[in-house]
Amino acid sequence: MQTLYADVIVDITADALDRPFSYIVPESMRENVVAGSQVMVPFGNRLVRGYVIGFHDSCDYDPAKMKEISSVMTGEDTAEAHLIALAAWMSHYYGGVMAQSLRTVLPVKRRVNASLERKVYLSSQTEARAYREKLNKRQEARKRVIDALLKQDGRTAAWLIENCQTNMQIIRGLEKDGIVCVLTSERFRTVVEGGSETVPPDKLTQEQTLAVRHIRMEWAGKNRPVLISGVTGSGKTLVYMELIADVLAAGKQAIMLIPEIALTRQTVERFVRRFGKKVSFLHSRLSDGEKYDQMRAARSGDISIMVGPRSALFTPFAKLGLIVIDEEHEDSYRSEMVPRYHARETAIERARIEGAHVVMGSATPSLHTTYRVWTEEYAGVSLRNRFGNAVLPETVIVDMREETARGNRSIFSEELIRRMQESLGNREQIMLFLNRRGYSGNVTCRSCGYVVKCPHCDVSLTRHVNGRLVCHYCGYERADITECPSCHSSYIGGISIGTEKVEEEILKRFPTARVLRMDSDTTRGKEGHTRILGLFDRGEADILIGTQMIVKGHDFPNVTCVGVLMADLSLNASDYRAGEKTYQLITQAVGRAGRGDKRGCAVIQTYQPDHYAVKCAAAQKYSSFYKEEIAYRKLMKYPPTGFLLAVLGSSEDEMHLAKGMHFLRKYIDRIDRGNILSAIGPAPQSIGKIRDRYRQVIYLRYPSPENLVRAKDLLEEYIRINSGFAGIRIEFDFNT
Ligand code: ADP
Ligand code: ZN
Ligand code: ZN
Repeated sequence: MQTLYADVIVDITADALDRPFSYIVPESMRENVVAGSQVMVPFGNRLVRGYVIGFHDSCDYDPAKMKEISSVMTGEDTAEAHLIALAAWMSHYYGGVMAQSLRTVLPVKRRVNASLERKVYLSSQTEARAYREKLNKRQEARKRVIDALLKQDGRTAAWLIENCQTNMQIIRGLEKDGIVCVLTSERFRTVVEGGSETVPPDKLTQEQTLAVRHIRMEWAGKNRPVLISGVTGSGKTLVYMELIADVLAAGKQAIMLIPEIALTRQTVERFVRRFGKKVSFLHSRLSDGEKYDQMRAARSGDISIMVGPRSALFTPFAKLGLIVIDEEHEDSYRSEMVPRYHARETAIERARIEGAHVVMGSATPSLHTTYRVWTEEYAGVSLRNRFGNAVLPETVIVDMREETARGNRSIFSEELIRRMQESLGNREQIMLFLNRRGYSGNVTCRSCGYVVKCPHCDVSLTRHVNGRLVCHYCGYERADITECPSCHSSYIGGISIGTEKVEEEILKRFPTARVLRMDSDTTRGKEGHTRILGLFDRGEADILIGTQMIVKGHDFPNVTCVGVLMADLSLNASDYRAGEKTYQLITQAVGRAGRGDKRGCAVIQTYQPDHYAVKCAAAQKYSSFYKEEIAYRKLMKYPPTGFLLAVLGSSEDEMHLAKGMHFLRKYIDRIDRGNILSAIGPAPQSIGKIRDRYRQVIYLRYPSPENLVRAKDLLEEYIRINSGFAGIRIEFDFNT
């Protein structure tokens, strides 16, 4: 039998990842050693623990000098081993090298300096006073430090530096003179405030109780991933918390994934109120050190619940019982960096490895997940009612083509103006949501709503700077148009307005209204979001204008009117998921109205009032939407009925990239004789150039992922051995 070699890493720090060592796999172990296995290997003159990250059947070294793996550990359930097995799956499934996957699942293994806290104490008050008297005019900083400590001893050095215009040298100087002493201690950074007292949980409603019971039954049986589809305000969070409590009671731990944008103070407080100090949080505003400490606390068992965005999925819990994915449809669950993983699939794989459960929730589940509930790969439960007296708002669709015809050229329809007046009159609040998602230069007729689409792919064409209209799937191109092919109107072109424009118009109409604007300009800085939402929550403003960032997760009971401006803009995105995204955005926006006791109203302004995504969202008819959308996906072989692999190429040299992608397509056609992969492209990516790198894409479609993974492996190999691809970066993305 040919010798088999294993790549083993023996020290799991970030620096060690790139230097695996090769060992011979003894024949007796071939069955047991897999990627991710924990093994003992000879290293120097000791035996050390290592992890297998890959295999090969040849070796550059003298085989006579190679050592054998001495034993493979089985049944060893350490968090690390599980995460490494997960990394092995990620690099196989999503592509890229093992080291990249390991860095993703073991993100804080870089050495972070422990955080130190220095407290400064006076050695003796009398001596300090005497010493102070003798200081000269140029020693004011020393005086300030002594004065501060005389007022309150034991201040931290950080406090003194910030408040006494001093620095560490001056404090050390005082220490040398024997006036103060500095006590240093390691500080364990906690990010959760309070939590010493918890309050008993709310009593579940009947519907919530049923949902929990249903899920427990699933766990006791097939243990499929479960989708909770629950309208906004139905109390999904309470159901999650109930399930988390189950898992904790069984001595296990839970991970709660939330899109970063929804990880607000409100969410944090709810979890801390219920679970106290067992909870921790991860979010991008924490320093590396703080994140590291949260991971350490999870590993040591100090905490049992980790709440956070995508990266929290890799919390090293030893006995993981449950992963919850809230707002599972959110795009932020897909990673844009290699490995381009999706948190949902990766969570399901982690749960499989560790025998844990997965629960997902959304008011607007992704087609991906719904499709799997319908095919019974996942289980599904639903919450149809809002909690308490809250009812879903009345929805009105306004046809902006008619407003145009009537000569109303303003951003606001007459209906919306009337509703806003009503709410303002009742001292209630208004949210105006400006749909800007996917806006990338598509061409729409303002008189009839016609959108210019690709004849082959049924997605919108994008206008490029050179005036050509281009399809980002197949590369189809045509000349620009100035007259609508459908109604011959000349009101055809790009539609775009900004939040500032909306604010301006409002102040013209309602000069006394207090308006807050939330967009990337006003939310710069650490607490931008929180500040604006806080002001609105306290009733300091009547109207909140914003892009999609205002529609998520925030509960404002006094909002009774929601306006959705340009609801269909996202329909025109050059993306096969445009309909799905539009349905989600409208539903989430509408869900913001009438969270309290008062029935709200949502006005949806659109140029395409007859589009099923708009109509179904307004009527809150998800299953009708699903049926229409899935029929379109089936017809076009788009996910979730099939799988899509994007082969993304980028290079600084446009010609070189075009040539490389051309040859890649030729190679695909060669390995895909029967054309079962239905390749399309190459075409420019939706953003054709970023930081001087040109970008192109080829798509492959297939009914199951296995063939695509195999195609990816073949392409990776082809690119590796062909010097022509030097200078071109090729990445693979299964989440398009
Ligand atoms: P969702 O996440 O489904 O949109 P939430 O979990 O935010 O809904 O619940 C909406 C509101 O209803 C929250 O303020 C929550 O505290 C309240 N709520 C939900 N269920 C209950 C319950 N059984 N008892 C008391 N309050 C509840
Ligand atoms: Zn027209
Ligand atoms: Zn096309």
